[in-house]
Amino acid sequence: MTKLIIAWLLLLSFSAAAYLEELKWPKGETFLTFLEHNQLPSSIYYSLDKEEQELAAEIIAGIKYQVLRNSDTSALEQVLIPIGEELQMHIKQKNDQFIMEIEPIAVQLEEHALVLDIQNSPFVDIVNATKNNLLANEFAQSFRDSGVNLRNLKKDDQLVLLYRQKRRLGKQFGSIKIDVSMIETKNKQNYIFYYKESYYDAKGQELENFLLSTPVNYTRISSPFTLMRWHPILQKYRAHLGIDYAASVGTPVKSAGNGRVNFVGEKGGYGNTIEVNHDGSYKTLYGHLNGFAKGLRSGQVVKQGQVIGYVGNTGLSSGPHLHFGLYRNNVAINPASVVKIAKSALSGNDLRGFLEYTKALKNKVETALKEHVPPVQEENFEYAYPFDKKSDM
Ligand SMILES: [Zn+2]
Repeated sequence: MTKLIIAWLLLLSFSAAAYLEELKWPKGETFLTFLEHNQLPSSIYYSLDKEEQELAAEIIAGIKYQVLRNSDTSALEQVLIPIGEELQMHIKQKNDQFIMEIEPIAVQLEEHALVLDIQNSPFVDIVNATKNNLLANEFAQSFRDSGVNLRNLKKDDQLVLLYRQKRRLGKQFGSIKIDVSMIETKNKQNYIFYYKESYYDAKGQELENFLLSTPVNYTRISSPFTLMRWHPILQKYRAHLGIDYAASVGTPVKSAGNGRVNFVGEKGGYGNTIEVNHDGSYKTLYGHLNGFAKGLRSGQVVKQGQVIGYVGNTGLSSGPHLHFGLYRNNVAINPASVVKIAKSALSGNDLRGFLEYTKALKNKVETALKEHVPPVQEENFEYAYPFDKKSDM
């Protein structure tokens, strides 16, 4: 707690006596109801523009947010709510009025190596050595479609991971990227590389077996996916956590993959929205719909290409279009990286670039093996992002 307050003070150079509360965003809470519940003016919400209202609809139930209160009166002074991994909504006071500004999340970037002799199973050994469940999950994901049977490993087979993670207010934050995983078993080194937002084997063959199709027949892409950017004219930070496909009202919207409907209803700035869970860790979102397919309900199994709704203009939308979002473990990723018809095998210049990139990583793995660096342990590990299957919401 002390550490948190110091971090906050450093970040915001806040001077008055205040204390910090860390809370969990309740299920069903919207940004607007949050303002009402905290006696904050709803004008904060109504003055948001279209993109900001979409971002406000990105707040995930179960996410940790911080409230700074006055030590004497307990009155709310500031609020920080993360949206995705790069931006946060910051409610604060300016000229005695509450305002909201979207700001970058201040994080420290870390790079680590983990070297283990297998004792139980890779998953259990990673958790025991690092107390980092997120790392173990990401590892399991990286090897899922690799063809290496992790159950056949022998005691003292070797595992090396080179990974990157972020830290916010002293705690692990956001998703983990494992640049390379290596398992040595039966005198053979098996490598998995993270490259261009997907996993590849050492030969440049893409591994992840998750393919999506375009959810709508569109006339044009009216807004691409963008992570945090500074808008020089508006003088604001912006992000667009999906792809907008322009299409006329009533155009059928199809599920981008096989899955199970997770949400049907209104979702803040996204208006009428459908969410579909796919394959354990992926979720798609379809926003601004005019209507839903007849009888569509939460829990229903849907097939790729099945019509689930119709293009509309609901929520805060400038013209009829489909907002299509894609999330991996609840983190927005660019749908363009996954919407394709086949797994890719790199060739030509792409393959040469890949092999050069992976050669450097293999050298780092060899160095880590030689040095046998001790594992980095996480204190008080908590999921930075709530997972559907593990959350208690
Ligand atoms: Zn959009």
